[in-house]
Amino acid sequence: MLLSSIFHRPPHTEDTAAFVADLSISGISGTVLTHANDPIAYSLASIGWNARCAFSPAAFVRASSVEDVSKAVQTAAKYGIPVQARSGGHSFGGYGLGGQNGALVVDLSNLNEVSYDPQTQLATIGGGAALGRITEELDKHSVTFPHGTCPQVGIGGHATIGGCVAVRHRPNTNRAYLSAVRAS
Ligand SMILES: Cc1cc2nc3c(=O)[nH]c(=O)nc-3n(C[C@H](O)[C@H](O)[C@H](O)COP(=O)(O)OP(=O)(O)OC[C@H]3O[C@@H](n4cnc5c(N)ncnc54)[C@H](O)[C@@H]3O)c2cc1C
Repeated sequence: MLLSSIFHRPPHTEDTAAFVADLSISGISGTVLTHANDPIAYSLASIGWNARCAFSPAAFVRASSVEDVSKAVQTAAKYGIPVQARSGGHSFGGYGLGGQNGALVVDLSNLNEVSYDPQTQLATIGGGAALGRITEELDKHSVTFPHGTCPQVGIGGHATIGGCVAVRHRPNTNRAYLSAVRAS
């Protein structure tokens, strides 16, 4: 029972196999992780926070640049593979693993830059930055934003969907603090 929930396998279809092969030669400079190239790392990466919402992605791309995200999405589109972003991977519904079997997970955790401009009072935060790191960086400027207690939660899910907020100004209003979002 335990072993079957640890070892994941992607759905075996012709499209998935062709997609995975194409993804591996698509020029992505970050990491392309598939069941074929590293089954153990693939299974570990597929473990989510909620065993009731366990999914086996077609592949993971850990993007090291915006161009990587673009290449991954374009390759998935060619084969009709659904794409899901993953920031901190703390989705209770397993959406950071695709929310269904056979998706491409684009892991943004390496796109984690955090900067703050005191002149404009704007923070620029990469889509994969973790709340703990963001808080530490912003604290250097004596500013903060609503968040809870778990430092590994990502800004991606937190800002778009939200979570439980221990430090707050208005309830569940991270979106109220968003000034601009760049989608690439
Ligand atoms: C163990 C645990 C502890 C938690 N603790 C706290 C807490 O202390 N405080 C708190 O406020 N909340 C907490 N939460 C709730 C958490 O804030 C939400 O589940 C949040 O949505 C997780 O975001 P994530 O980026 O880490 O998750 P992910 O699984 O990476 O993403 C969640 C969803 O957002 C989407 N997404 C991610 N990045 C992007 C992006 N860049 N652009 C568009 N969509 C994106 C994903 O596709 C997915 O649908 C906790 C959750 C768990 C499981």
